[in-house]
Amino acid sequence: MFTFENSPEWAQTRDQQDELASFRNEFFIPQHQGQDTVYLCGNSLGVQPRKTAVYVNEELNDWAKLGVEGHFKKHTGWFAYHELLRESMARLVGGKPHEVVVMNHLTVNLHLMMVSFYRPTADRYKIICEGGAFPSDRYALQSQVEWHGFDAADALVELQPRKGEDILRHEDIIEAIEDCGDSLALVMLGGVHYFTGQVLNMKAITEAAHEVEAYAGFDLAHATGNLKLALHDWNVDFAAWCSYKYLNGGPGTVGGAFINERHTRNPHLPRFAGWWGNDPETRFTMPHRFIPVPTADSWQLSNAPILEMAALRASLELFDRAGMERLARKSLELTAYLQYVVQEVLRVKNKSGAIRIITPFDEQQQGCQLSLQMGEDGKNVFDALTAGGVIADWREPDQEGREGGVIRVAPVPLYNSFYDVWRFGELLKSTL
Ligand SMILES: *Cc1c(COP(=O)(O)O)cnc(C)c1O
Repeated sequence: MFTFENSPEWAQTRDQQDELASFRNEFFIPQHQGQDTVYLCGNSLGVQPRKTAVYVNEELNDWAKLGVEGHFKKHTGWFAYHELLRESMARLVGGKPHEVVVMNHLTVNLHLMMVSFYRPTADRYKIICEGGAFPSDRYALQSQVEWHGFDAADALVELQPRKGEDILRHEDIIEAIEDCGDSLALVMLGGVHYFTGQVLNMKAITEAAHEVEAYAGFDLAHATGNLKLALHDWNVDFAAWCSYKYLNGGPGTVGGAFINERHTRNPHLPRFAGWWGNDPETRFTMPHRFIPVPTADSWQLSNAPILEMAALRASLELFDRAGMERLARKSLELTAYLQYVVQEVLRVKNKSGAIRIITPFDEQQQGCQLSLQMGEDGKNVFDALTAGGVIADWREPDQEGREGGVIRVAPVPLYNSFYDVWRFGELLKSTL
């Protein structure tokens, strides 16, 4: 589909033609020995927008000048500050604005979603999730199941790739849902698997879950800001994500959630309540009974972390300017270039065949992350790459059947260049 060359001239020429190339200048790129690192770690922590400090300082200054009056200042009053993020965030995940709220943090939001969408009965109590899930998701799922008095070994149905394979097959996911049938309460999967980078067909999975009258929710930690999402059209019940990975909100910054309007309009759906979920018209009159707003906002508990939200604003503005459509198009080519460059290197440097890409080579099943299964000396290779100025991510060989550990690399279309990818290939070649 694309024609590539593994040369610095080709990469730099391609960058010159890239209409999104200038967005790199909107960020601080971490430095190594006086030059830009090859930063391929946006799947773990996105880099800092130059505007972040400006927005955070605005709020600090207003706090200094106005004190509590800042809640009702013009334009960026803290009382409704989360409104400033709503539309941009809704565009990113393909939700209607009233289905999306920026609040809390990812694991907290997963729990809040399960309070509403995992209400097991003696017959219908199972949750389908991925085997080898991100630890926090696993802990959340396990504690929810046990909190309701079920045994995790029975209630959690953990999907595994077939023997000798690295990724889940779509038909196996659907079959697992059908097999659980009436016993299935919830499907809770990562939209993008954090380890393998595999993208799931969220639309088809949601349909299959609804077919057996279960809910479908997704952890979008590795999907938001990476893929074009359409949560509303896919009829997803709920989703939650963080905004320090592809969304560049800063370490540990505020997360987000999507709740389908079918559910936000149902005041009888149980949820944990707090004053920020109450109708803002009466929020400060402190009524005795909780009156949920009929939007995703009614899952909010506490008043909003303004400094985190100010930081996130800087990044969401860049997403609005770049547009997910254009980003997704560049992502496809940039990731394909990384695949190409890595394969070129492996062709001459991987005689034993120990190293391979486990992320699927398939437009429908991949975002901007590639996971490289390494050989026995994987950690040494990773350390040498780091010493050479690459910032990537190392995963210990903790999964069954994996010997050498995995290096995850993510060329992010908003700030990575084709030249970054070429440099990664060069460093990999010299390291191997
Ligand atoms: C990054 C990540 C988390 C982190 O959860 P926090 O609550 O933000 O600390 C959880 N789950 C997945 C799948 C992740 O990728």
